[in-house]
Amino acid sequence: MDKNTLLQVWPIPAFDDNYIWCIHDGHSALVVDPGDASPVIEYLLQNQLTLTGLLITHHHADHTGGILNLLDRFGASIPVYGPAGNDIPGRTEVAMEGDKIEIAVPRISLKVFEVPGHTLSHIAYFANIQANVLEPMLFCGDTLFASGCGRLFEGTPTQMSQSLAKFAALPKNTLVFCTHEYTLSNIRFALAVEPNNLNLLSWADEAKALRAQHLPTLPTTIGQELQVNPFMRCDQADVIAKAKEVSGENDLPTPAHVLAVIRAWKDRF
Ligand SMILES: [Zn+2]
Repeated sequence: MDKNTLLQVWPIPAFDDNYIWCIHDGHSALVVDPGDASPVIEYLLQNQLTLTGLLITHHHADHTGGILNLLDRFGASIPVYGPAGNDIPGRTEVAMEGDKIEIAVPRISLKVFEVPGHTLSHIAYFANIQANVLEPMLFCGDTLFASGCGRLFEGTPTQMSQSLAKFAALPKNTLVFCTHEYTLSNIRFALAVEPNNLNLLSWADEAKALRAQHLPTLPTTIGQELQVNPFMRCDQADVIAKAKEVSGENDLPTPAHVLAVIRAWKDRF
């Protein structure tokens, strides 16, 4: 096999609105956040792919529930990368900030970011351009969504703000593989924050058209999210002004303060 075969990334739909991402070279596959084993098994068999590793972003059951069944089915020696803590079943490798994970098949080099907020031990995997990867790719779990961000179950607004800032610093063409199809409801909220954001208005039309055809709205890109995602725009005048209006606060000195207001608003939206 030519080891420079371009890697492909495909969504495996699971539950109501999860995407389990499969990274493969036509032969070997890595699977990200398998919350359920059966759709993954079906996908791998249908496409004649050999499972060579699992990448886990955080401990929630809809991201980890299929790990042990996949190991049972395909071999207990498959490496399972995941964040620190005792709540990732089957994890064999702890992945921490700055780690570089080198996987042989499919050949890919991944950098690890710690991105607390949605959970405390949440991590993300970033693949920069390499021989078989033409555009950078980010597997961000439930931290960043198209036009939204994860709910703060464990972390603080400041942590989420710092996590999103790590993503904002990535190349703008980075493809972002979010793990839920929340885009249309996120856009409804984003439009409440920024009703005059023209990029957001045209993205709303595009996303509606995709969903009308039952197509994923993902992956998105970092450049796109910087234009349409209020949680990535907490330093923008319109977003700050709306956060002040909603909260009645006159002083929201940092993006984290703004994020705290709009995240709380989204929770009750
Ligand atoms: Zn989650």
